[in-house]
Amino acid sequence: MSASEDAPAGPVLVISAHAGDFVWRAGGAIALAAARGAAVTVLCLSYGERGESARAWREGKQLAEIKAIRRAEASAAAEVLGAAIEFADAGDYPLRESDALIDLIVRCYRRVQPEVVLTHPLADPYNGDHPAAARMALNARVYAQAAGYDAPGEPLGAPPVYFFEPHQPEMCDFKPQVLLDITEVFRVKRAAMECLPAQQHMWDYYTELARRRGVQLQRNAGPNLGLPHDTMAEAYMRLYPQVTRMLR
Ligand SMILES: [Zn+2]
Repeated sequence: MSASEDAPAGPVLVISAHAGDFVWRAGGAIALAAARGAAVTVLCLSYGERGESARAWREGKQLAEIKAIRRAEASAAAEVLGAAIEFADAGDYPLRESDALIDLIVRCYRRVQPEVVLTHPLADPYNGDHPAAARMALNARVYAQAAGYDAPGEPLGAPPVYFFEPHQPEMCDFKPQVLLDITEVFRVKRAAMECLPAQQHMWDYYTELARRRGVQLQRNAGPNLGLPHDTMAEAYMRLYPQVTRMLR
C-alpha cells in the first residue's frame, strides 16, 4: 500500500446503535485512523442496555446499573482504540427514530466535520435498531450539508459513508466491497473487545471473522496456497460512488 493511500486521514465519525457495535465491526478502522493521527469520534446512540446485555440481565442487574456498566465498557474500549466517544442515551429495543435524535446527530456532524463516516448497513432483519441508526445517520448527514439547516457550525461537505459488517452479513444484503487491512492494529482491536465482558462470546467470533476477511484480502497469495499468514481485515460496503482519477 502506498503512503498516499494512507494520507487522507481526516476526522472520522462512527455512528453506532449500541455500546458494542463499533468495537466488533469497526474497531480496526478506528484504531488505524487514530494511529495515523486522525481524530475519531464515536457517537453511541444507546447503551444496548435492553437488547445486547443479556448476561447482565441474567445476573439480576437492573436497567440503570446495566446502562452504567455498558457506558463504562464502551468508554474503555473507545479509549483503547484512540477515539473520543459521545452517548445519546436514546434507548434501545426499540431505538426510536425522532427529529430530536436526528438533530443531535446533525449537530455532531457539524461539530466533528468528518471526512469519513462509518455506520450500520440499512438492512438487518435480526435487529431493527441497526437500520434505524443507519437511516438517522444518513438523514442527519444530508441535513448537516444544508446551509439552511439551523444548527451551529459550517455545513458539512460530502464525506463517504462506509457500512460496517453486520453480524449476519448474508441476511443484511452485505457484500464485502472493501477489505481493510487491520493486521497492524488487530492487537489493539482485541484489547478493545476485551473491554466488553458483557458480550464475551463475541471476542473469538470477531477474531475469527477478521482472520477470514484477512484470507480474502490476501486473495491468491499465501493463505490460499496453504502458507502461514497473520493478515487480519474488516469488510465494508460503500453507499456512495467512489470518486477517483484512477481505477485501481
Ligand atoms: Zn447492536
